[in-house]
Order: sequence, then structure tokens, then C-alpha cells
Amino acid sequence: MFRDPALAQSIVRKIENLTPQDHVRFCHVCGTHEFTVTRFGLRALLPPSIEVIAGPGCPVCIVPAEEIDEAIWLAQHGVTVMTFGDMLRVPGTKMSLSDAKATGGDVRVVYSVTEAVKMARREPDRNFVFFAIGFETTTPTNAAEILRNPPKNLSFLVSHRLIPPAMELLLGIGDIRIDGFICPGHVATIIGADAFSIFPETYNMPTVVAGFEPIDVLMAILMLLKQLKDGARLDNEYARSVTKEGNVKAQRLIKEVFDVAEGRWRGIGRIPSSAYKLKDAFYEHDARLRYDIETGPARDIAPGCSCHLVVIGKISPPSCPMFLKACKPEHPLGPCMVSHEGTCNIWSRHAQL
Ligand code: SF4
Repeated sequence: MFRDPALAQSIVRKIENLTPQDHVRFCHVCGTHEFTVTRFGLRALLPPSIEVIAGPGCPVCIVPAEEIDEAIWLAQHGVTVMTFGDMLRVPGTKMSLSDAKATGGDVRVVYSVTEAVKMARREPDRNFVFFAIGFETTTPTNAAEILRNPPKNLSFLVSHRLIPPAMELLLGIGDIRIDGFICPGHVATIIGADAFSIFPETYNMPTVVAGFEPIDVLMAILMLLKQLKDGARLDNEYARSVTKEGNVKAQRLIKEVFDVAEGRWRGIGRIPSSAYKLKDAFYEHDARLRYDIETGPARDIAPGCSCHLVVIGKISPPSCPMFLKACKPEHPLGPCMVSHEGTCNIWSRHAQL
């Protein structure tokens, strides 16, 4: 049903009937939404005056180079670094974790924090660090493992980020016009649809929490158009998974383990209240406190790379001169080309160029 072409066509007809004459730009902040929009060619189905842009929704792309440099420093100083596969190829300032591994660092790919804990238990004489990245969706699992008393030889290099503060920042960038937000359904399953109510209430911004199938995204666009006509509010298109209050138990876990702090986002800079940091009570498992990590000045964006513009939706990947020339998925220059959730990577595989 959620990929039914006839249903999609009937929603598109309703979208056409509601499309205003002026150009409108709807912004999502999720790699999976960008995948759906691009893979299923949704942009081509929409009237030309409706533009869908991708904001900072790839959890791998927005990890700042300085935090990757920290992980590299650890790998180069006898610590085993464990993280998700995508993180290995993301460039730090001078190299990637993959380069650090190739030059003798012990860097291991894990599929979950639970696997990381098991690995650390199996080798009690080694020191392990789990490089914990991701938005509100992955944070509760890590919080749960930290509360379960992980082994003493395991600590966490925490690089978790919160989505709503980044969306707020986008609204303050003067030359990026946004007429509505498509909010990430999986983040909302944790923090609740109401966590996005700030956008209609404070910014009068049409806002829809949406799922990830083509019909979900088309419905979200239709709902945003209705809001443009009738007034901004918070709509929940993904009610089959998302409640108003979200997963209260998961929120409790996060609160028990993490404080909210200012965070750096790659290519964007510092955003207030946008990062999780371990509470003081868990200092023994905080890699930044356990090790005297020394890194030099960090560089987020390589010369010629436009990731800082792609990640805020100011340009689309083909506007970067490196796209599919010097920068390809096989040899990415910037973080947006590495992960399957990165906008450049998605466009390189699925866009009709
Ligand atoms: S195509 Fe490559 S170099 Fe250009 S913005 Fe994307 S990741 Fe950066």
C-alpha cells in the first residue's frame, strides 16, 4: 500500500490542486527521507514550484572532524576503537579511521553497542572505546548499555546529536527559505511528535512528522500544503508508529545517562543544546576523561568540497564541482559521499541526473 503507484498518483493530483503559484521549499532532516525522495523519483512527480530539500539528517555526515580525529588518536595510541562501518571512511582532518587501521591502529566495525560490550568482555586485557554516533534514535540503546554496568575496559566516545536544535538553526540562516518541515518519524518515535511543536507554535512553520515510504512522504507534502493554506500546525502522518509523547521509557534512559550540551556539527558549527554528553556519574566510561586525547586544529571541509552547503540544503549535490568527478562513493572527498544516508551518496546512486 505504501508504494502503490495508483495511490501515489491520486495524492499527486491533490498536491497539484493545492500547489500555490509561488515557489515553496519543504525541508526534511533525514537521510532515509532523502533516500525515499530520490530513489522513488518523487521530485519528478511534484509540480515544479514545489522543492524538497535535504537538511542535516545524516548522522555520519555531521560528526565533526575534531571528534573523528579523537577516535583516530585513540586508535593510534593502543586503544581499540569500535564503531559502525560507515564511520571508518569519513575523512577526519588528516586521515580517516580506515587509514588509521591501515597504518596499524586497531579499529573494528560493530553492528551494535551490545556487540561492542561483548567484544570488550572477551578481551579484558585490551582497552576499548565505542565511538557512539547517531541522533535520538540510537542514544537510548547506548544509555541502556551504560546503565548495565559495562566492563571497566570499555569507554565511550560520545558523538550523539539532537535533531530539533539543528532544525531551529536552519530557520535562522537568512538566505535559506523554508516553507515547511518534514520531521523524521524514527526520531519522533523516541522523542514524540510534540517535540516538534515548537516549529508551528514559535515559528509559524508548517510541520509534519512523516514515515519513510513514498506514500508517507507524498502525504506529508500534501499536509504541508494544506497547512500553508489553513495555518501552521503539527500534523502526525506517521501515527502508526509515533505518539504525541514518544517512547517515555527511552527518554528516561537518555535523561539518566546524558546531559544536553552545546555540540559542533560538521560544516555547520556550534549549535546550543544539540549534543548529548555523559553525566559526571559515568566518568569512568567517558573516553574523553579517561584518556588525554591530543588533537590539533580540525578541518571539517576539504578544499573544494561543498558539504557545508549540501548539509544545510543550500545546494544539491550536482552543484558541487567535485560531484561524481573527484568525489565518488569509491573515493569520497567529503562526509556526504560516504554514508548511504549522505545526500551526495544517495544522489550518486539514485538521482536521475
Ligand atoms: S560531492 Fe563530494 S566534495 Fe562535493 S559536497 Fe558532496 S561529498 Fe563534498
